[in-house]
Amino acid sequence: MANTFKIGDLEVLVFSDGTAKVPGTMYFAGTTKEQWDQHKRWQDHAGNVEFQFSSFLVRSSGAQVLIDTGLGNIKWGPMSGGALLGEMAAAGVKPEDIDTVFVTHLHFDHAGACAQDGQPVFPNATYRWSSDENAYWASGGNPNDPTRSIFSHREMIETIAPKFEAADDGAAIASGINVIATPGHTPGHAGVVLSSGTERAFILGDAISCPVQLEEPEWSGMGDLDPKLARRTQEAVAKEIEDSGALLATAHFPGLTFGRVLRGEGRRYWAPV
Ligand SMILES: [Zn+2]
Repeated sequence: MANTFKIGDLEVLVFSDGTAKVPGTMYFAGTTKEQWDQHKRWQDHAGNVEFQFSSFLVRSSGAQVLIDTGLGNIKWGPMSGGALLGEMAAAGVKPEDIDTVFVTHLHFDHAGACAQDGQPVFPNATYRWSSDENAYWASGGNPNDPTRSIFSHREMIETIAPKFEAADDGAAIASGINVIATPGHTPGHAGVVLSSGTERAFILGDAISCPVQLEEPEWSGMGDLDPKLARRTQEAVAKEIEDSGALLATAHFPGLTFGRVLRGEGRRYWAPV
């Protein structure tokens, strides 16, 4: 079941498309069991991190915006999903009700359900992501991407093209929903900032993939195309969130929830609300 939050006048439903368990020492290459012993709250007893595949439905003045679509029918290693549409139906939301689909970046676990069988899954929606992200994948993307054989970015981009409208840093997706550029994980990765009244919340896709990275800001996870830029982006956005007291959610943090970025013993950490 979706979790529901209010950010001022905005309503946010957080849906799960599925979960995957990956050993922490594998996802963060080069990290050791001894290092992870300091961060056991983010692991299960076997040393696995559970990654949630979250999608966020934001309702703003009658508009319904879906942020990230999960994996759809795509399966890869421990990663599978496909629960989103059923979870939406359980909350009374049909695919045709979605006005805008915003995708943080075009990895298959976020863009996997944009299109299916050559058709847009959300037939009435305008699809939006950054122009840098679109250009990168439309021109072939990462030649070493191990998921190329299971997800054709070009095919998806072609299917969606008539409904695509680029959304770059600062763009308004709907009232109180604005894009924030967060490059590094992919060249055109972007999140959104929700603002209403005095309340603010960030939804950051894979700019930070696991809460442990707030405690260990040098750790870069699997899938970061430019790890150095990703960490610089993370530092800037984490500082802004900490300083402003805003809420933070990302695609893969556990619990389908927002949290606050707090500080203890000289380190930031994420405290779910
Ligand atoms: Zn992801």
